[in-house]
Amino acid sequence: MILQERVDLTASNTLALPGRAALYASIVDPVQLAAAEFRHRPRFILGGGSNLVLTGDFDGLLLHMAIPGKRLLREDAEAWYVEAGAGENWHDFVQWTLAQGWPGLENLSLIPGTVGAAPIQNIGAYGLEVAERFHSLRAWDFEKQAFLMVDRNDCRFAYRDSLFKQEGWHLSGRMAITAVVFRLPKVWQPNTRYADVAQELAAQGIAAPTPQDVAAAISAVRRRKLPDPAVTPNAGSFFHNPLVDRAKAEALAADYPTLPRYPQPDGRFKLAAGWLIEQAGWKGKNLGPVGMYEKQALVLVNRGGATGADVRRTMAAVQAAVHEKFTVDLTPEPIFL
Ligand code: NAP
Repeated sequence: MILQERVDLTASNTLALPGRAALYASIVDPVQLAAAEFRHRPRFILGGGSNLVLTGDFDGLLLHMAIPGKRLLREDAEAWYVEAGAGENWHDFVQWTLAQGWPGLENLSLIPGTVGAAPIQNIGAYGLEVAERFHSLRAWDFEKQAFLMVDRNDCRFAYRDSLFKQEGWHLSGRMAITAVVFRLPKVWQPNTRYADVAQELAAQGIAAPTPQDVAAAISAVRRRKLPDPAVTPNAGSFFHNPLVDRAKAEALAADYPTLPRYPQPDGRFKLAAGWLIEQAGWKGKNLGPVGMYEKQALVLVNRGGATGADVRRTMAAVQAAVHEKFTVDLTPEPIFL
């Protein structure tokens, strides 16, 4: 395997921020991970770079996970069990499962990134989280120098969160996810409860959608609302939707009757970060080369030539504006390296 030095990462992160990795290797086969030079610390595991804020040069080893492969592992009366390599493009994998006749991931169409990154932040969209279709994953543990299997129950999945985001796991480079297995139930029902999806299907005159119809509708909505990173560099949703207690939600709703708020099983309410940002005056607004997207205020965009410092400046300004207006704190979703 080839260990490269001082590798430019600008094209490896979808925000197109500049920075170099002191050491870099692309992993295409899990067995490569046992190599002695990969014990180097600090270590960072990179997937599609679509949830990353590169703050400058990284003085460590960056391992780009490019392991390919997708296959049906087995099926039983209830479900198909499908495995994909960590380096597979997420959207291409979703499309492939649909083409095989194995629905279940269609609501996660067009989410950027790789299969290996999907469980880390428990990607979710339009009323579905990947945790609901996750079966298990295989990972290389650099400390134990062994592969391990992690089942769904051990992943501590939560809203855009998992065990792998916690200290000491994937994000600190202790382990590298090499493959993920999904359980796709054979009993299928369309999940069209998000207004955007229902409206798109209605506009197309589709009353009884197939999985492909749902995927196409979601792809159309996303293409309309979200910037293409190849044209306008971005990292998708930049802030978590904040969770507040009932009293806070009611107090805000008294002042702002149109405030979107969604009750959660734990009694709290989820607010829409994009709405708060828009109301705070940041939709389509820029500070230097970094702004919030004009069609969806939750997406932070690089207007050209931005650095990690520029991102931090705009992020702080948006957080301050939202805090001043609503006394709600926004936390960023991407990982800072
Ligand atoms: P939207 O439809 O404008 O809705 C704004 C927010 O309200 C969303 O964040 C969503 O929460 C919530 N919401 C809307 N309808 C809901 C319902 N019926 N039940 C519960 N919550 C509801 O959102 P958007 O920004 O255009 O994004 C559309 C979907 O794509 C969302 O699910 C969003 O999370 C997802 N998305 C995910 C990523 C990512 O994983 N990084 C990036 C971009 C978009 P939820 O976020 O909990 O769904």
